[in-house]
Amino acid sequence: MTEHFKNLIAGEWVDSASVTKNINPSDTNDVVGEFARASKAQAEEAIAAAKAAFPAWSRTTPQERYEILKKASDEILARKDELGKLISREEGKTLPEGIGEATRAGQIFAFFAGEALRLTGETVPSVRPGVGVDVTREAVGVVGMITPWNFPIAIPAWKIAPAFTHGNTIVFKPADLVPGSAWALVDILHRAGLPKGVLNLVMGRGSDVGQIILDHKDVNAITFTGSVNTGRKVAAAAVASTPMKKVQLEMGGKNPLVVLDDADLKTAVECAVNGAFFSTGQRCTASSRLIVTEGIHDAFVKALTERMQGLVVDNALKAGTHIGPVVDQSQLDQDLSYVDIGKSEGATLHWGGELLNRKTPGFYMQPALFTNVANTMRVAREEIFGPVGVVIRAKNYDDALVISNDTEFGLSAGICTSSLKYATHFKRNSEAGMVMVNLPTAGVDYHVPFGGRKGSSYGPREQGAYAKEFYTTVKTAYTFAD
Ligand code: NAD
Repeated sequence: MTEHFKNLIAGEWVDSASVTKNINPSDTNDVVGEFARASKAQAEEAIAAAKAAFPAWSRTTPQERYEILKKASDEILARKDELGKLISREEGKTLPEGIGEATRAGQIFAFFAGEALRLTGETVPSVRPGVGVDVTREAVGVVGMITPWNFPIAIPAWKIAPAFTHGNTIVFKPADLVPGSAWALVDILHRAGLPKGVLNLVMGRGSDVGQIILDHKDVNAITFTGSVNTGRKVAAAAVASTPMKKVQLEMGGKNPLVVLDDADLKTAVECAVNGAFFSTGQRCTASSRLIVTEGIHDAFVKALTERMQGLVVDNALKAGTHIGPVVDQSQLDQDLSYVDIGKSEGATLHWGGELLNRKTPGFYMQPALFTNVANTMRVAREEIFGPVGVVIRAKNYDDALVISNDTEFGLSAGICTSSLKYATHFKRNSEAGMVMVNLPTAGVDYHVPFGGRKGSSYGPREQGAYAKEFYTTVKTAYTFAD
């Protein structure tokens, strides 16, 4: 019997008429559950509940916030294997990747529990005699959260945890493809003791539930992670509403990994395999452009191809699987269409790129590697968001740097080199928000800022102590005393 899950509005689990069927991409016969789709009226009730809960929640003590966030962290970490399995089952990343993501969510809640005890302000000497100045941070209000499908628990965690640390209330709309992990996280937080209305879950489609959050006057801020196209709509709606909303957008990438002649070949191949193909290439920080200098090009392509031939693509929950399925049919169609686009543009499909059949019916694809790619081709410019790597030949370091920055995105960039000179120059001159030396472009720490430049990000950074820039508003208070 299929399990049925409801939305959380004003502290109550509420049902609705229509549902999303959550399908396991590794086995399309497996239904993870049925998830209620919030109606327009329910989304509005959720916003009203968050608004009503704000005055009391924003005045809770750091101790109260710490205790709830810490309790949630403890439960997530205690249940990381079970939650990891749920993530793998609904999203298709491998079980170790799923458990890693659940662990990350628990660590994020522990970090932001601690942050609640480290809230500070400033007392500043005035330029005028007898005047005192206090600079403090206050909660923004009701925060709308709209998240993508590729990190079903970690992205909600790194938005929800800092929002609560700083005293905001939340209306959360997870991606329609992966509501299971979001539901489990909200259930944990609800039972951790949040007062009613502080966290509201409204599942459903972006174009209906999401749009209501974007347009509603009582939502004070929107944090969004997803594609550039949707991000533009979010930003436009945020400034069109009265009053205007604070907005934070984390979007796509076309992240370069530069491999120089002096790189350690094994390190470079591991960085490329991890960055381009793990998590089925479905990461905003994926190394989707491999920019390789002349002297190492052929050896790198050969070693990478051999490594790719050993990768097991299969059911995400099966032991020994390196790469799970693509998330759904439409993403699979998109990935395969880019394989055709690359071929028609004149790139060489060096290896992979075919549809695969496995024991369980799912969206399986052999990772693809293109060579002879020009940085002007669509496969080098557009975010594919699948297991498709492209190799671009560069004359030397200077040429590689120019190619790596020649993109409309700027999320993450990596370089494999044994030269301190080139590593240092790349860290200074890469036009990306995050730079990796001898590390994959994907994979970050949770206690430092995350985000990009150019078309990849808009607004303040997420994660670490920097998260407060979005989740608080600054107040400057002057007092005169004789
Ligand atoms: P998407 O833009 O299709 O959807 C993201 C979210 O927006 C979903 O919850 C969706 O329902 C909602 N949405 C869609 N239309 C909406 C509307 N009109 N109003 C309000 N909400 C709406 O993205 P996706 O396919 O879920 O995720 C993949 C994208 O996310 C990729 O581009 C990837 O690079 C990006 N991503 C970025 C980061 C980052 O931190 N930079 C992290 C993960 C994923």
